[in-house]
Amino acid sequence: MTTLRITHHLDARTLGTVLGVWAHPDDEAYLSAGLMALARDAGNHVTCVTATLGEHGTDDPGTWPPVRLARTRRMEIAASMAILGVTDHRILGYEDGTLPQQELEPAVGAIAAVIEEVRPDTIVTFGPDGMTGHPDHQTVSAWTTAAWARTGRGRLLHATTTDTFAEEHAALHEEIPVFGPGLPLRTPPEEVALAVDLDDELLDRKLAALRAQATQVGPVLALMGERAFRCWWRTEAFRDADTARVAPLPAAVS
Ligand SMILES: [Zn+2]
Repeated sequence: MTTLRITHHLDARTLGTVLGVWAHPDDEAYLSAGLMALARDAGNHVTCVTATLGEHGTDDPGTWPPVRLARTRRMEIAASMAILGVTDHRILGYEDGTLPQQELEPAVGAIAAVIEEVRPDTIVTFGPDGMTGHPDHQTVSAWTTAAWARTGRGRLLHATTTDTFAEEHAALHEEIPVFGPGLPLRTPPEEVALAVDLDDELLDRKLAALRAQATQVGPVLALMGERAFRCWWRTEAFRDADTARVAPLPAAVS
C-alpha cells in the first residue's frame, strides 16, 4: 500500500470533507490537529465530534468538580478549534469514563446521523486499541466503525503510531506512562495509509491548539518540557480500518 503523505494544504484537498470522532477534548488535537488545519486551509469542510466533555479528567476533583471542569473544557476546546479553523464541532454529551457501559444503539445511531448529514469523504477516529488503551477511546472506535459500516460513506482511518514513534520517544513513554500495556502500536510503515507531517509553522499551530486545552495539556507539558512535547506528535499517522475486525452490525432502528 502507498502511504499518502500530506505536508501542505494543497495535498489535503484529496481528503475531501473530513469527520473526526473522538472521546474527550484534546484527543482530536493530539491525533489530528495538523490534519484538520490543513483540510480547513484547503477549503474542505471539517466536522469534529467529541463524545464527552472529559469532566472527570483531573487528579484534583476538589479544585475541579465535574461541572466546573466540563464548563472549562468546553471553552478550551472551542478556543482550540478556532485556532485550527474548525467551525463545526459537536459534543455527544456522554459522561466521561462511562462509554463502555453505554448502550450501543443510540451512540452508533448518533454518529451515523452525523455521517449522513455531513457526508464525509474521510473519517478519522481511534483504532480498536484506543491509542492509549483508554476504554472510552476503544468504545468510540467501535461506535464509529459500526456507524461507518452502516452508512457505507467515506474512507475510515484509524489513528495509529509507528516503530519510529515508539522508538524515538521510548524514554519519554517510560518516564510518563501515557500508554497501556503493549502500546503504543508499531504499525509497519507500509500499512500507514495517511501520514500528516507537520512543518514548523503547522506544528506551532498544533501546539497552540493543544495549549488552549490547558487543564489537560498544561501538566503534561510541564512534566515533559517544551522541547520533547513539541516533537512528540509531529507526525499524525492513520491506517485503513481493518474491516475484518468490524463487529457484526446491530440492526438499525428506524
Ligand atoms: Zn481521551
